[in-house]
Amino acid sequence: MPTASASKFYAVARAGLARIRAEGRYRVFTPLLKDASRFPVFTTEDGRDITVWSSNDYLAMGCHPAVIAAAVEAARMHGAGAGGTRNIAGTSHLHTALEAELASLHAKPAALLFTSGYVANEASLTAILRALPGWHVFSDRKNHASMIAGLKGIGGVTVHVWAHNDLADLERLMAAAPADAPKLVAFESVYSMDADIAPLAAICDLAERFDAMTYLDEVHAVGMYGSTGGGVSERCGVQDRIDLIEGTLSKGFGCHGGYVAGDADTIDFLRSTAAGFIFTTALPPASMAAALTSVRLVRGDAARRAALFERAGTLKQKLDAAGLPRLPSDSHIVPLHIGDAAAARETSRLLFERHGLYATPINFPTVPKGAERLRLTATPRHTDAMMDALVSALREVLPATLSRREAA
Ligand code: PLP
Repeated sequence: MPTASASKFYAVARAGLARIRAEGRYRVFTPLLKDASRFPVFTTEDGRDITVWSSNDYLAMGCHPAVIAAAVEAARMHGAGAGGTRNIAGTSHLHTALEAELASLHAKPAALLFTSGYVANEASLTAILRALPGWHVFSDRKNHASMIAGLKGIGGVTVHVWAHNDLADLERLMAAAPADAPKLVAFESVYSMDADIAPLAAICDLAERFDAMTYLDEVHAVGMYGSTGGGVSERCGVQDRIDLIEGTLSKGFGCHGGYVAGDADTIDFLRSTAAGFIFTTALPPASMAAALTSVRLVRGDAARRAALFERAGTLKQKLDAAGLPRLPSDSHIVPLHIGDAAAARETSRLLFERHGLYATPINFPTVPKGAERLRLTATPRHTDAMMDALVSALREVLPATLSRREAA
């Protein structure tokens, strides 16, 4: 028998689930088996082939034979788990070598690994904001939940949310804040739900004018932008103007884990104060070896980056040529406008069931109501034939789902 407290909570959970279902926000998993040699073709539990159009393994590095071999070899040599936190027997030469590689990627003196990009953001921002009283933080309205988690609810911190990528709004808010308060601007480079890119140099100009520290999330850019994959900050030549660059190993590098790179003392300080770094088991050797191999390969593989942008460009052209409602994109991400939550879910369901295609719908609250979309990503492994199959499936499915939206 559950206790009275547990029963009360279970009732709240059931009511919460009913509300989530009623609002159409209930999340259902689609289990798919990934076969590295056939990526982006996955299989369902009953053996159907599904071409995935929603993978964040943007460069297909998670399926690179050398990356896989590094993981297998490291697991064989060092075992399956790290066996401890970074401070208690969990640090190996793989962790330190990867941190050195990531620091060099971003032209910074030091870097620190975290369990994930989410934890890197949440733990680093929390530690920084707790360390100094009176911070004024300027956070782009579309910042990822992990940054918001790191900014919220910290005593003495004032958070100003600036309109997405709107320099005039950022300037207005910074000008109104106390001149002598410590300030931090938190923003992303590639916003993956909107497929746009922040004006990094202009944000750095404002930050310097108002004496603010800069914190940049490059999760959807590392590996892919810049001449060596150092992200949009490398592409725009502003790496030295950003105090902390945060990234992930799980998207462009195809592995797992997150990190921040920056000034040596800041990184050392986070190593000693960020709870999300200290009190958790170190990332496993197989992940570290795979990521180290991946980062080293990607840094020297401009052709892979070029292939990603060529594939994204070809997909955009094919959607446009077919008159499909593609939304503007400055990046490798290709959003397709649906404009209604139920229609987006139905489009996705029909693509999956009738055409063996997986494209996740992006609904409120991730995007505003009316801006619901499918978010498509074409990796270097997506062929022209796969794109043609997607376009022809969308042409078949969309008229019916979109007309339901108009009727509603
Ligand atoms: N930052 C942004 C902008 C993201 O979109 C995500 C995840 O999708 C993260 C951070 C978290 O990264 P990770 O998946 O490594 O936890």
